This record gives sequence, structure tokens and C-alpha cells, in this order.
Amino acid sequence: MRNVTIIGSGPAGLTAAIYAARANLSPLLIEGLQAGGQLTTTTEVENYPGFHHAIMGPELMKEMRAQAERFGTEFLAGEVTAVDLKHSPLSLTVNGEERIETRTLIIASGASAIQLGVLGESRLMGHGVSTCATCDGYFFRGKELVVVGGGDSAMEEATFLTKFATRVFVVHRRDKLRASKIMQDRALKNEKVTFIWNSVVEEILGKEVVTGVRLRNLQTDQTSDLSCAGMFVAIGHNPNTSLFAGQTEMDAKGYILTKNVPGVFAAGDVQDSRYRQAVTAAGSGCMAAMDAERYLEALGAH
Ligand code: NAP
Repeated sequence: MRNVTIIGSGPAGLTAAIYAARANLSPLLIEGLQAGGQLTTTTEVENYPGFHHAIMGPELMKEMRAQAERFGTEFLAGEVTAVDLKHSPLSLTVNGEERIETRTLIIASGASAIQLGVLGESRLMGHGVSTCATCDGYFFRGKELVVVGGGDSAMEEATFLTKFATRVFVVHRRDKLRASKIMQDRALKNEKVTFIWNSVVEEILGKEVVTGVRLRNLQTDQTSDLSCAGMFVAIGHNPNTSLFAGQTEMDAKGYILTKNVPGVFAAGDVQDSRYRQAVTAAGSGCMAAMDAERYLEALGAH
């Protein structure tokens, strides 16, 4: 029987692991399909305190993992495929076979990129359609690209992609960006970035690979085709909570709401639709681990 099991290996999960391990709780951390989480697909992280010259996302996650390991966290590579939070002890199934029983569970399974849901998107995913500039930008050297979205992610991806692409068109459905001022300014000042306002991508064109996108201007209702070699979708994320449906309380968008199941705690993007920052995820990971420790103390198990 485990005292603490953590699902997820982003900043929330790893910070929970650091705290739980230092509290002598010997946590088990199940890493998930994308070990290290969303930051492993980003470039420079400039707003995580302690790194005034910035740090690369994958490097930050490597450091956090090493720190959690140093204090005795046990790591399990794999995906949680089922959970039972209705009985005590709580139980999980990993990779469809390995069963784990635990007194407390910290859910830090993060969030995943939302797709547009337009014609051609699924078919051409990985063939010019991407949700990760860091992963795929390199393949588009000397090409023209489209980025969809008006938030920080879209600005970050567009700016990053200008390292490879000759031109990056940012297609945004309004005429105002949602992104923070600093990220907006960086993209707006970049000579390789062209904004296409009040427009949406209606279809992605191309037989085997992306050759262009069909745009609709929402003010004039006119459509036009724009040729490009790739399209990056950067319109936000959905929490990875389908596994917990019916077993923990969630809001309308599927974010985990409260600690309504004894022994179950949540941290990071899976319970935060508002801030979604590495530092807030880490902070909530610390809180979840401390809550788990207090819960175990009250049970007399620690
Ligand atoms: P976001 O802030 O929710 O922005 C999503 C953008 O996509 C919005 O501009 C939205 O348009 C647009 N959009 C949503 N659905 C769409 C659809 N179906 N079709 C077309 N456009 C659509 O998401 P995000 O940019 O991923 O950022 C999420 C959080 O992470 C934010 O808190 C952000 O600050 C943070 N973040 C921070 C950094 C950084 O600081 N380095 C980097 C990335 C992300 P509307 O504006 O019209 O709603």
C-alpha cells in the first residue's frame, strides 16, 4: 500500500513529489505519456523565478525530476488507464495491468492542446498540422506557416517559428489579442509575423501534406485560400480529466473543482483554468503534498 501516489510529471506533479518525498512519504509518481508535461514542448521559460537568464523548458523539467528523485521519489513510466476513487484504499491501474493501492492520490495530469475541429485537421495532423512549434518547427525551414490563436501560446509559437519560417501568418478570430502585453509586442514587432484579423481557418488544404488553409473573414464573410506548408493550432487546452469522470467533482469544462473525495488532491492545470503557469502549478503541487501529508497524519498513517 502506497502512502502517496502522484499522477503526472509536470511542475505540479514533480513539486508534489519533492514535498512528499522530503516528508518521508516515499511517493510513487506515474509519469504519463508525455513525461515532463507541457514544458518539455516549450523553449525558453523566462518567468519561472530563479532563472534570470531564462531556462529551457525541458532543462527545467529535468532539474525538477532530479530533485524529486534525490529525495526518494519512485518513478513509474506509463499511463494510468483506470482509477477507483469510490473505495478505500484508492486504486489505480497502470498500462491496463499493474494495480496500485494508495492512501492518497495527487492528480496532476495536466491539460492537452485543443484542436480546431475543422476539415482536414485530423487527417493532416503530423503532416503539416501541429500543436507544438517546439516539436515541429524545425521541419519548416524556409517555408511559410500559419498559427491560429490570439493568446500567449499563439504569440510564443509565432515568434519561435520565425526562426525557421520565412513568414508566419497569425490568424485570429477577433481584432484584439488576448496575449499579455510583452508577448503581443514581441510578435507585433517581428517583421516576419503578419496578422490576419477577424478570421478563422475553415479548412486545411492538402492531399498528403498541408499546402494551404481556407480562411473566412468573419466581418465580410468572404473566404480566401492562403498557401502555407504548415499550420500550428494554439487556441488553448483541455484538462486531462476524462479518467476521473463521475468520481471527482468537476466544472463544466472538466477542471477538477474541489477535494470532495477523501484522500484525493489535485494540482496544476488539471484544476486551474485561470492561471495555468508553471509557477502556479508548482505552488499547487506543494499545497497538494502538504494536504496529503496532513490527511495521512489525521489517519494516523504517518
Ligand atoms: P488562451 O489564453 O485561452 O487563448 C486562446 C486563444 O485562442 C484566444 O485568443 C482565443 O480567441 C483563441 N481561440 C480559442 N478557441 C478558438 C477557436 N475555436 N478558433 C479560433 N480561435 C480560438 O490560451 P493560451 O494562449 O494557450 O494560454 C493559456 C494560458 O497559458 C494563459 O494563462 C497564458 O498566459 C499562459 N501561457 C503563458 C505563456 C508565457 O507566459 N510564456 C506562454 C503560453 C501560455 P479569443 O481571444 O477570441 O477568445
